[in-house]
Amino acid sequence: MTAFHYDALPGRVVFGAGCSTRQLEPELQALGARRVLLVVAEQERALADKLIAPLGTRVAATFTDVRQHVPQATVERVLAAARAADADAVLSIGGGSTTGTAKAVALRTSLPIVAVPTTYAGSEMTPIWGMTAGGRKTTGRDLAVLPKTVLYDPDLTLSLPSSITVSSAFNAIAHCVEALYGPGANPITSLVAVEGIRALAAGLVPVVTDLHDSAARSDLLYGAYLAGTAFAAAGSGLHHTICHVLGGAFDLPHAPTHAVVLPHVAAFNEPAVPDMRRAARALGSDSMADGLAALAAATDAPTSLRELGMPQDGVEEAVRVIMQKDLSGNPRPLTEGDVRAILGAALAGRPAAVEAYATAAPTR
Ligand code: NAD
Repeated sequence: MTAFHYDALPGRVVFGAGCSTRQLEPELQALGARRVLLVVAEQERALADKLIAPLGTRVAATFTDVRQHVPQATVERVLAAARAADADAVLSIGGGSTTGTAKAVALRTSLPIVAVPTTYAGSEMTPIWGMTAGGRKTTGRDLAVLPKTVLYDPDLTLSLPSSITVSSAFNAIAHCVEALYGPGANPITSLVAVEGIRALAAGLVPVVTDLHDSAARSDLLYGAYLAGTAFAAAGSGLHHTICHVLGGAFDLPHAPTHAVVLPHVAAFNEPAVPDMRRAARALGSDSMADGLAALAAATDAPTSLRELGMPQDGVEEAVRVIMQKDLSGNPRPLTEGDVRAILGAALAGRPAAVEAYATAAPTR
């Protein structure tokens, strides 16, 4: 065993079907939260209303103006709502955009977050915040934004439509894949990441034929939890850099962008990441790129950035911004031409292939 370090993160997790109805009140009570700011997107309001019914006056205010990629104007508005309510805690019920909005409050105020995720984004397990201003997404790491308590209730995900289910699950798989070679990757994060991929694939295949398959929904949410956990400790790499640039520059939908880009980055990186083969076996393949392509085909995942709204002439702008980022930690050195090739293939929806990058430098 090679030497490693592992910075484990704090936090309480409650997992189980129905837990959000039964345990939200006692969990808030345990944190001493008396004036909660509820953050929920308008679309998830009805779902949240049922959960907060037993909380009574513990919910001091509700903020529903949630926007993807947390624009600066949203940050100002949600902070004003927290101040006006004299909030002592933030309760987020929803997907990654909602958790991200709650994190914006915690970043400035250090208020504790209780998160009830309803997608597979995994943000609730990470100390990473993200905000967008002037077409550029900024991310940072701060323990203040890591939720104190997370309630994972698979019942809340039963209403996720097929397209969101699939792309969100691919977003979670992306967390696992990047965790295999992120700056803080270690044997523990790899173990968690591989098990995360297994659980996500095990849940995703049956759920596309029956969106109400509770066992599959449970597998998916468990996988998403593991994915967020591995990613939080291992950190992100090339794939997330590309997706953040695309999201910020072209306002592309977050999870579908991950689904499209991931097989291409995996194809590029897998010759330089020994753990990638072990992880690919969790998908029933010897190659991560092939395993992801098969899973995408079986689940009708999006495969082209063009279909997500990226303009043809956007590649050059994206290449320019991506090359300004620090890519020195990528397990395989990459040139501007490699980034252009990855983006070109992802834009056009060409199949991801390890051979496409055969001429790039093999490893660091
Ligand atoms: P999202 O929160 O925007 O949700 C996607 C869609 O799903 C929305 O239309 C929402 O209304 C709908 N939805 C959510 N829950 C539902 C439910 N139970 N039933 C039906 N519809 C439901 O998107 P997301 O993919 O969950 O998260 C993406 C955001 O999260 C991005 O901004 C991304 O940067 C961020 N993120 C951050 C981290 C981190 O560690 N900081 C990690 C992952 C994602």
